[in-house]
Amino acid sequence: MTTNRKIQNSGFYKEPGPKLSSESPFESMMERFRFAADILGLDKGLFKYLSSPVKQVIVSIPIVMDNGSIEVFEGYRVIHDNVLGPSKGGIRYSPDVNIEEVKALAAWMTWKCAVVNVPFGGAKGGIRCNPKELSLAELERLTRRYTANLLDVFGPDQDIPAPDMNTNEQVMAWIMDTYSMNVQRTETAVVTGKPIILGGSQGRKEATGRGVVTVTLSALNKIGLLPNKVTVAVQGFGNVGSVSAQLMYEQGSTVIAISDISGGYYRKEGIDIPAAMAYTKENGSLEGFPDADPITNEELLELECDVLIPAAKEDQISKHNAHKIKAKIISEGANGPVTANADLILEQNGIMVIPDILANAGGVTVSYFEWVQDRQGYFWTEERVNRRLNRLMKNAFDNVYNVSTHYNITLRQAAYVYSIDRVATTLKMRGIYA
Ligand code: GLU
Repeated sequence: MTTNRKIQNSGFYKEPGPKLSSESPFESMMERFRFAADILGLDKGLFKYLSSPVKQVIVSIPIVMDNGSIEVFEGYRVIHDNVLGPSKGGIRYSPDVNIEEVKALAAWMTWKCAVVNVPFGGAKGGIRCNPKELSLAELERLTRRYTANLLDVFGPDQDIPAPDMNTNEQVMAWIMDTYSMNVQRTETAVVTGKPIILGGSQGRKEATGRGVVTVTLSALNKIGLLPNKVTVAVQGFGNVGSVSAQLMYEQGSTVIAISDISGGYYRKEGIDIPAAMAYTKENGSLEGFPDADPITNEELLELECDVLIPAAKEDQISKHNAHKIKAKIISEGANGPVTANADLILEQNGIMVIPDILANAGGVTVSYFEWVQDRQGYFWTEERVNRRLNRLMKNAFDNVYNVSTHYNITLRQAAYVYSIDRVATTLKMRGIYA
């Protein structure tokens, strides 16, 4: 049955509290949470439960720098919930990471895991530091001390970190080793995104980009466009952006623009993505990439194209530029690239947005596969990983799409409705322990 109604936020779930900027990541997340709670008629108590993280830890991390001086950094780990299973989520190293941001991102992970039906709760962590200013040895000491400070939080059945902004396989290897040394056994399943030789999974590195492309293809199919007939613009050429661009290119799409911190690169006839991949491998960035016209990152977003994949960072499409977006589909490779204020403008302009919690859930999906493989001590081929990833992502897209047509709401609203319903139903069945 299609109810075919538009639901306005009734305000029932508004809690008095500090006034946050309506474009802050936490407020954007809450805005969407409230909307979904309204549609579901979520019990007020359950709403309260799911609005507040179960655990927030702030640690100070002293390390000896290479020059012998002592420096102290601040580290965070927030567990938003562990209703569906152990909590899961990445760790980011960045100069401006803070507890509010980590809280929002932890909640995001809860909805993300629920949307793809993996049995994890949501968490996120971070260290406030500038990794570019640290030597490899300092980064190692920082990572190990952070892990040691959180030994009672992390655990394969408790809370499982993964890479995020500015953290990589090497950082995950140090976390795994530090944890293992302390529990006096090799515990590979305590962290995902590890190097393959240390119990990592085939296909984990490419998983987020691969998932972005799977859901983008499903969306194209829904609006009757063929992948080999469409134009694509990709913002960001890191792990997610470059793999998304490469896989769309392999589908026969014309990738007209790509970008990184050095700026954007545009070619109407299509960019040779394998050449761009080889160029960044050799030069470290796209700076000076030949055979394309330079444009800015902002101009890239506003290009005439069928698919726009923002895969760089949050808050790229806001109320300031949303009305200038011409793409038919936006597939959110990054977390939070579209602000809550921009959602309405994009909806009014008929742009289909595949929300981050669905579009970029391929990463955590293969993290789940990695955790399963570690616990079994039996490792899958890349072909099996990719096949299972595609199946989960396709199913997740279809589930969200069906909710969106049932309630006549956007895919973002539907993704929240679907995942909040799943977590709330589980929570109701488990009950509150007292
Ligand atoms: N940091 C990634 C994300 O935001 C991956 C999390 C994970 O694999 O646990 O989805």
